Amino acid sequence: MESPTTTRRKWIYAFAEGNGRDRMLLGGKGANLCEMTRIGLNVPPGFVISTEACLAFLDDPQRQLPEGVMGEVRTHMADLERRTGKIFGGAQDPLLVSVRSGSAMSMPGMMDTILNLGLNATTLAALIRHTGNERFGYDAFRRFVQLFGKVALGVPDALFDEQFEAVKDRAGVKIDVGLGPDELREIGDRFLDVVHRHTGRPFPTDPYEQLEIAIKAVFNSWMGKRAIDYRREFHITPAMANGTAVNVVTMVFGNMGNDSATGVGFTRNPATGENQLYGEYLVNAQGEDVVAGIRTPRPLQEMEREMPEMHRQLADLRNRLERHYREVQDFEFTIERGTLYCLQTRNGKMNAASMVRTSVDMVEEGLLTREQAILRVNPAHLEQMLFPRLDPKHRGQPIATGLPASPGAASGQAVFDADRAEALGRQGVKVVLVREETKPEDIHGFFASQGILTSRGGKTSHAAVVARGMGKPCVAGAEGIHVDVQMRVAFIGEQVIKEGDLITIDGSNGHVFRGEVPTVEADFSPALVRLLEWADQRARLHVRANADTPEDAARAVRYGARGIGLCRTERMFNASDRLPIVIDMIVAESPEARRAAIDRLLPIQRADFAGIFRAMSPHPVTIRLLDPPIHEFLPTERQLEDDMARLQDLRRAARGLEVLVESARSLGDRRAATTAPAFPDAAAIDAIMTRKEAILRKAQALREVNPMLGHRGVRLGLTYPEIYTMQVRAVLEAAADCVRAGVEVHPEIMVPQVCTAQELRAVREYLAAVQAQVETTYGVEVPCRFGTMIEVVRACMRAENLAEVAEFFSFGTNDLTQATFSFSREDAENKFLPMYNERGILQDNPFEVLDVKGVGRLMALAVEWGRASRPGLKVGICGEHGGHPQSIAFCDSIGLDYVSCSSPRVPIARLAAAHASIGSAARTDASA
Ligand code: ADP
Ligand code: MG
Ligand code: MG
Repeated sequence: MESPTTTRRKWIYAFAEGNGRDRMLLGGKGANLCEMTRIGLNVPPGFVISTEACLAFLDDPQRQLPEGVMGEVRTHMADLERRTGKIFGGAQDPLLVSVRSGSAMSMPGMMDTILNLGLNATTLAALIRHTGNERFGYDAFRRFVQLFGKVALGVPDALFDEQFEAVKDRAGVKIDVGLGPDELREIGDRFLDVVHRHTGRPFPTDPYEQLEIAIKAVFNSWMGKRAIDYRREFHITPAMANGTAVNVVTMVFGNMGNDSATGVGFTRNPATGENQLYGEYLVNAQGEDVVAGIRTPRPLQEMEREMPEMHRQLADLRNRLERHYREVQDFEFTIERGTLYCLQTRNGKMNAASMVRTSVDMVEEGLLTREQAILRVNPAHLEQMLFPRLDPKHRGQPIATGLPASPGAASGQAVFDADRAEALGRQGVKVVLVREETKPEDIHGFFASQGILTSRGGKTSHAAVVARGMGKPCVAGAEGIHVDVQMRVAFIGEQVIKEGDLITIDGSNGHVFRGEVPTVEADFSPALVRLLEWADQRARLHVRANADTPEDAARAVRYGARGIGLCRTERMFNASDRLPIVIDMIVAESPEARRAAIDRLLPIQRADFAGIFRAMSPHPVTIRLLDPPIHEFLPTERQLEDDMARLQDLRRAARGLEVLVESARSLGDRRAATTAPAFPDAAAIDAIMTRKEAILRKAQALREVNPMLGHRGVRLGLTYPEIYTMQVRAVLEAAADCVRAGVEVHPEIMVPQVCTAQELRAVREYLAAVQAQVETTYGVEVPCRFGTMIEVVRACMRAENLAEVAEFFSFGTNDLTQATFSFSREDAENKFLPMYNERGILQDNPFEVLDVKGVGRLMALAVEWGRASRPGLKVGICGEHGGHPQSIAFCDSIGLDYVSCSSPRVPIARLAAAHASIGSAARTDASA
């Protein structure tokens, strides 16, 4: 092993020598201090002790600073002395410094800054003599003792506050500024005692000892509980930030009179993105006064009048920062006797709307290229703008909290069943559907509601999945809500919500409020439209929407979808004017009876498709033929049995009533005969019972052990050809109508659950027959593509054969993920997935983040094999993953043509698609 002396490392970098891009080594604050110094901004002289020194220190069981560090500190301090003409610990004009922490990621929880380090009895006296300002000197001293005591020596704040208050009380003043030099001196002395008593040692007076203690305290704070918790919470890995640096900076003073000041600035307004200097300042104050809120700072605009020359310099600083960083900056400054110093800068944190606006503005100002502007905005961040949210000024207390199951906020009257929701919704009343949980038969209630609130189920409950698909807000699993459907009330803790009472839900954080909380609409600003246009030009992937109705389709167009990637026809079956017909179709005992029901469905579906085609023209629309097991359209067996039992009671009671009336007549009792209530006709009850009985028998016959793997999708289509044939006819006739009306259409018929090419061939035959008929009848050619969903493992393995029949593939990654893992989603997410994630057995939830290693490999193979037999094969994805930025990048990398997701996620996907294209271009360049 080499000895430490021969491999002496460099631990410290002066601001003038550090590499401003090396945040890992210097921390964010340190790197930027170096960078600002390098480009000639006025930064007080200083240096950075590197994160490597921190890691070496933490590695040492004795927790000693690595050999050489203090030596380098002395060298650099000597350099500061040369530059400032002051002496550290000097008896004339003493040099004071601040000691500041800073890692690669901005991270509250680490050590607070110590100001005015280097003060002791000698230097304090010198400072007072040199400035001629006693008050300033004693104030600086007591601040230092308090900060050093608290931060470096761990003395509780309360002990200092106690002394401070005692002196203030005695002097009869309320605020610090009311204290004179004598009181401040006394406070300083009392603070020294506090430290002595609490630590058992006198306050250190040697400046270098102070400095060494402070440096060690900063390094130790990296492993402090607060910092560790913070890193865990925000998933900050060692690759992102490892250790903290220490910044030692010459003190400058904003509290040296009325030509001095301190403040913070933003190069643009962070709330709106507007291109104007923004921030606050205090005259004659130190940095911490702004934060402590002791005095109210004033907006920077006022500085223009009060200190015009300083304001001009500040505007100049702002321009230089932005020209250099090409990013909005959030900076700290101090003015000492008319000289402006910049003490910190970093990229400004902004909401999504301001990010978008500043990106577009900065392209127009020539600061950024379009590509840089696109990359600057995080696609997931856009979510904030695309859903309505609660007015940020609102300050109410939620009456319940559940899981944030689908983003966005909504208000409306509480209703407790889907039928009521639909009835009120039709009248234009805004309602929120409140249920214990929802079922597929509640779907018409979803359409009619502004949002959904449930007391049971998680983020993947039926309510959550359907609401997300529709882009409606949903709060799920808000325990503590009890719904009494019969009484039309819900109990929330102590509160009673009656039907019609106004409530507000926030699906972005799970809060539920009583009353109508004002909401802010989704924000489709001109800047966003612009940015997304650029994204579309840059993206290779197209983005389509999942949309089931003409209204959905119109909305998808507004969000910029270039087609529909998934239209689920069963969603149309659930509307309450259709469900009875669908039930007739299911219960039918003969093909004729079934055809009669189907004939009634045909015009309804045709009208739906025509509406969707018109809304989406000229873009393609992919229609999935019926997929779910048909018993899902029937009430549950349990429900049917209950109903039958009640009807039987009623039937018996009706019979009893007949006997009563007959007996009364024969016994001549007029009273009983006239007061007997009117009952529904027994024959009418019988008719209902017969139908219910048939439904029940059907439900029993259709019962399956595992419906998800049962009689559904194409299996169903081949058992009941008349259903698929009707759907195909509805699509083609609607398309023919559009063609005749001069509306450009591109229908794509997609078959679900396919595992063999034979299945596809059989369905294609229905299509061919219907297409020939429709084209003859309508006298026009109807363009139509035929393809398959890929959601079964075997379909991936047989992609080459499937592609002989299918003109396109669409990955249904929800089912494909279940099939690949052999996890049922509900069970996995409710039972073991959280534990798997916690223990790192699985990194993510594969139902949220596409499992690239498993499911993704199957997809890549299917694409490759499919295109081997049909070179131009069009391939897309329509699972929930299609709206997830990380998954979109993967889809781009395996050469998909499009992704499809719910409408409000379309803009997110458009931006993510552009990011993916830019990223893959960069990788190709790098490997070239
Ligand atoms: P934080 O990360 O909490 O902002 P900082 O290290 O930036 O901590 O410092 C806290 C406050 O002290 C800020 O207002 C900063 O501007 C001020 N400050 C830090 N170093 C100096 C210095 N050398 N001279 C004057 N003020 C300073
Ligand atoms: Mg700061
Ligand atoms: Mg599926």
